[in-house]
Amino acid sequence: MIITDTHTHLYSEAFDADRTEMINRAIRQGVSRFFIPAIDSTYTASMYQLEKDFPKHVFLMMGLHPTHVKENYKAELSHVEEQLAKRNFYAVGEIGIDLYWDTSTLEIQKEAFKYQIQLAKQYKLPIVIHCRAAFDAIFEVLENEKSDDLFGIFHCFTGTLEQAQQAISYNMKLGIGGVATFKNGKIDQFLNQIHLKHIVLETDSPYLSPVPYRGKRNESAYIIKVLEKLSQIYNVPLDKIAEITTQNSKNIFKI
Ligand SMILES: [Zn+2]
Repeated sequence: MIITDTHTHLYSEAFDADRTEMINRAIRQGVSRFFIPAIDSTYTASMYQLEKDFPKHVFLMMGLHPTHVKENYKAELSHVEEQLAKRNFYAVGEIGIDLYWDTSTLEIQKEAFKYQIQLAKQYKLPIVIHCRAAFDAIFEVLENEKSDDLFGIFHCFTGTLEQAQQAISYNMKLGIGGVATFKNGKIDQFLNQIHLKHIVLETDSPYLSPVPYRGKRNESAYIIKVLEKLSQIYNVPLDKIAEITTQNSKNIFKI
């Protein structure tokens, strides 16, 4: 069984004490493909180190996270552009709009999001979207940018059935993680109405641990709990869900 974690911050400080052990623990359970979203330039060196340490398992993205779009965002976007020009990445991410933490930066978040969508199109890469309290703003941008070369993943999808269908209409897969296991997570109520071909798995570790680890540090091995939940929701065997979602991730990331 090959399981793909399409969104994990393995370079996070939360793993400094036991990173290698934690990654090997996941690999032993069949979680052997890790896609690593960027946050900002301060993490770039540790992402490259991670890739060096696990070259067969780690696949990097490049991008500026919406909560890190601050006064210096133009310099940060230049960094993203320089890295993309210099070497290979598998996606532009994570990018998007977050109005949960700060609404005052909406205009520059939008600008950074649009700019990075252009970069993704230029390099024929998928985008990985971070959306928090911002469905309307995100959909407005996607509506303007939609085209055959716009595709990717709506990471940590937590919307309604209608929003799921709208995201899919923009060539987006839904990234499903720990929230699917939460009692009040809501998406488990309608997910079976979304075909499995639109679903990829993720942990977003160290954040958003699935039940029964909710509130604790998340790690890629815990994706098994998400698989178990999806197996119940779809009434499809675990290994079949792993196979389909890994194939979906290959279709997006081209590896
Ligand atoms: Zn993330």
